[in-house]
Amino acid sequence: MKSRQSVVQNIAGKSFDVCVVGGGAVGAACALDARLRGLNVVLLEAGDFAGATSSAATKIIHGGVRYLEEAITDVDSKEYHVVVRALHERVHMLDNAPHLTRKLEFFVPSYSWLNVAYLDIRLKIYDWLAGSARISPSKFVSRDEALKFMPGLKQDGLIGAVEYADGQFDDSRYNLALVETFDRNGGFALNYARVTSLTKNSAGKLSGTQFTDQLSKQNLSIDAKVIVNATGPAADSVRRMAAPTISHCMRLSKGAHILLPMDVFPTEKAMLIPKTDDGRVLFAVPWRGRLLVGTTETEVQPSDELYVTREDVQFMLGQLNKYLATPVTPNQIAAGFAGARPLVSSDEAESTQKVARDDVIEIEPSSGLISIMGGKWTTHRAMAEDTINAVEKALGKTPTECPTRQHVLYGSEGWTNDYWQELVGIYQIAPDVAHHLSAKFGTAAADILNLAKADASLGQRIVSEHPVIRAEVVHTVRKELAATIEDVLARRLGVQFYSWRAAREAAPAVGAILGAELGWTPDQTKSASDAYVAHIDRLLDLAGLPREISGAAAAKPAV
Ligand SMILES: Cc1cc2nc3c(=O)[nH]c(=O)nc-3n(C[C@H](O)[C@H](O)[C@H](O)COP(=O)(O)OP(=O)(O)OC[C@H]3O[C@@H](n4cnc5c(N)ncnc54)[C@H](O)[C@@H]3O)c2cc1C
Repeated sequence: MKSRQSVVQNIAGKSFDVCVVGGGAVGAACALDARLRGLNVVLLEAGDFAGATSSAATKIIHGGVRYLEEAITDVDSKEYHVVVRALHERVHMLDNAPHLTRKLEFFVPSYSWLNVAYLDIRLKIYDWLAGSARISPSKFVSRDEALKFMPGLKQDGLIGAVEYADGQFDDSRYNLALVETFDRNGGFALNYARVTSLTKNSAGKLSGTQFTDQLSKQNLSIDAKVIVNATGPAADSVRRMAAPTISHCMRLSKGAHILLPMDVFPTEKAMLIPKTDDGRVLFAVPWRGRLLVGTTETEVQPSDELYVTREDVQFMLGQLNKYLATPVTPNQIAAGFAGARPLVSSDEAESTQKVARDDVIEIEPSSGLISIMGGKWTTHRAMAEDTINAVEKALGKTPTECPTRQHVLYGSEGWTNDYWQELVGIYQIAPDVAHHLSAKFGTAAADILNLAKADASLGQRIVSEHPVIRAEVVHTVRKELAATIEDVLARRLGVQFYSWRAAREAAPAVGAILGAELGWTPDQTKSASDAYVAHIDRLLDLAGLPREISGAAAAKPAV
């Protein structure tokens, strides 16, 4: 990607066709779509790309079995629309970034025949709705087969499982790949650029944005013919910049996830628990050497800080343990994260569990602000397609062909499942490092390994036994606009989403490399590292977990 300095120089005071506000999944997809249609586009993100909801997902590419359930029982056409659209979008998401996605089978363990029959019918409808976009047909698997794939399942009364297929993806890296692809096609993307106000012409129509470069503290502005508000949970705040008296329409639903060592429940397939005690859905998904357990549905406000609480931990383990032969304890938790799902509804009386996951495009009549709200990760591309059709209309054009259905993202060109072996052969690196680089960066891994080839110290691991090497930090600062330790360890390398304790251990080394790249003083470097360590300690404390652990839970398998 272009350097921060170069982006700032090229955008400050300049004019664009489109300014997209918000660099999560939806904003990045809008920016890419608009750019590929030939528009002159700038993307402004207040924090880091994928720094909000888009790195806090369950990482499933899905139509949504639970939403199908609601579409059927509540005869909800909006929910039905979301399921059908998402089922079809799965294919594009899988095809456009194979290094960041994979197909994944899910088991729904069953302890009653009635339940099996009920699920089987629902999942047959799921298959039928997917039509030609079906990944593989759902089926009943016997108790023996279920236990062969999930030996840790509670056996008492187990009849078998119903199996269906969806996909899985690396959410923060997928978001970054969208931004990188946008940049490489001539777009301008800037993180840590908070839009503070929208400017208007004499007719009251939007004509640009003012924003603060959060790192240099400079106040800057750009002109834009159309402004797209893709700020997810913060959508109401940008809508109010355009029309101060507009009524709010966002509802936020918090979701929390924990990551456990894979040996607590060895499995290559994911498990869906369709109904927890209070009617939620719980997923337990193998994710890059961890078991990712997560659920959603506690309503929060935009100003609320999002983190995993002791109650979240208690709830998730309580529900999960009902299905496990050997219960998991909090001390086994390696990491966690929480996020807020942006839902569109102005009906305060409606529970967030019941709000449809549909997306809404609003064109604010007085100012012309185009807001894209709601939806889900799986539908980000389709949401962007509709939004940029609206942008083209606002620009007085006839909507052109959408170019993103089959547009391979950066890092996936020429990538195959065996690419890691090529890396081992060419660069003589350890297989776990090659696997990690190939899965996170795709074919851009070669750039990282060339850095390590030129300077052998950059080939060293940051934390022993983890496959993350120093060259990755250099690369993410130079090529991916990483500016903080968390940008590197969470969203770009994934260490913080794998082990809080390993991330804390890695902080001083990552801080030192960042400091050298960004020209920090030794004091700045130390305080950045100390602040990150304190942040991780706080996350552990808030979740009620010990800061240090020993024994099996401390083991560090490959990221
Ligand atoms: C717990 C949980 C699990 C989920 N799991 C899945 C799943 O498995 N599969 C799936 O398909 N979907 C899932 N989703 C839904 C999916 O994650 C979201 O729909 C999607 O990430 C929303 O993307 P977004 O771009 O709209 O919002 P965000 O990712 O929140 O991006 C909005 C961005 O706007 C920026 N912003 C805000 N204000 C400003 C400003 N003034 N100036 C500049 N930038 C600004 C923010 O910093 C933020 O980065 C899940 C959601 C949650 C909460």
